[in-house]
Amino acid sequence: MDTKIWVVNNFDEQLESNPQIIEAAKLLSNNEVVAFPTETVYGLGANASSDEAVAKIFEAKGRPSDNPLIVHIAHSEQLTNIAVDIPEFVDVLIKEFWPGPLTLVLKKKNGAVGEKVTAGLETIAVRMPDHPIALALIKVANLPLAAPSANLSGKPSPTVAKHVITDLNGRISAIIDGGSTGVGLESTVLDCTADIPVILRPGGVTKEQLEAVIGQVSIDHSLFEEGQAPKSPGMKYTHYAPKSPLTVVFGSPQFLQRLVDKQKMAGLRVGVLATEETKDSYQADTTLVCGLRADLPSVASQLYDVLRTFDEKSVDIIYSESFPQDGVGQAIMNRLLKAAGNEVIHE
Ligand code: AMP
Ligand code: MG
Repeated sequence: MDTKIWVVNNFDEQLESNPQIIEAAKLLSNNEVVAFPTETVYGLGANASSDEAVAKIFEAKGRPSDNPLIVHIAHSEQLTNIAVDIPEFVDVLIKEFWPGPLTLVLKKKNGAVGEKVTAGLETIAVRMPDHPIALALIKVANLPLAAPSANLSGKPSPTVAKHVITDLNGRISAIIDGGSTGVGLESTVLDCTADIPVILRPGGVTKEQLEAVIGQVSIDHSLFEEGQAPKSPGMKYTHYAPKSPLTVVFGSPQFLQRLVDKQKMAGLRVGVLATEETKDSYQADTTLVCGLRADLPSVASQLYDVLRTFDEKSVDIIYSESFPQDGVGQAIMNRLLKAAGNEVIHE
């Protein structure tokens, strides 16, 4: 398949009449799949009402069919077409966080979207992305768009169009290149069907931010426990992994460097994922800097690019620094530990 690649300027004030957005919307109406930027990561969109269209997403990504997709909308009114029994606190969340990196899991309206989108579940995950291109595309197509991250299953999510091209060129109809995404990690997935809402996947909106507006929020504890099945089907799969094995190190840079030295003595080429503040502490074969510790959102926005860049370096093993697990650090550590297949070393 010939994949069209269009560069579109986010700041174009007339995005809804931009010829490439119109052409992309036409492809979506014809049940084709199109990759587009959002504020979290690039999404791979298809008409959520069509099982034929949604099947193409699963095929292009090699995504397991039991892993449901998030439906993206551009107006809050679209929500009542696809979800029912919406609790009152959800209105508060929508006012505060939409458009934005918060996905709400709600009771699905029967027949509103194809079965494949929700992988047969009774619930549906919905969000409104905070990105001018994503919003314009959904409005022009006038469809709710099912859209997972636009990467091959198992690889780090794409934060620039180049990542999408690497994974999906030739497998999808079009890619809209709108530059770098902002947040760099996926949305927070919040199950709103229980009395106390539960974070199924930590992400761009933190637990602290949610609690500040709706009070108590819990987090799916199986995310942190070996051998437990997470409530969000997607969280059970290995994800975000670079090609070389990654280990997350809890300890000082000096301790991490001793691990590097040991591996180098054994003849291995070693990569280190460091931060601006600590990069000079390491003598490794490749040291990649992932943002500033003092500014965790900068770490979030660069993490996937750094994980992908290790694939271009010839390293046999990667050690990563760890991060504090509060605020956006919770999502960063969730993704890093998944990328590492939970391989950790403590000082
Ligand atoms: P992605 O679109 O690749 O960011 O992945 C979407 C995430 O949302 C996956 O972890 C899915 O398992 C999760 N998800 C989607 N729909 C539901 C749902 N109805 N209930 C629970 N988790 C969901
Ligand atoms: Mg994904």
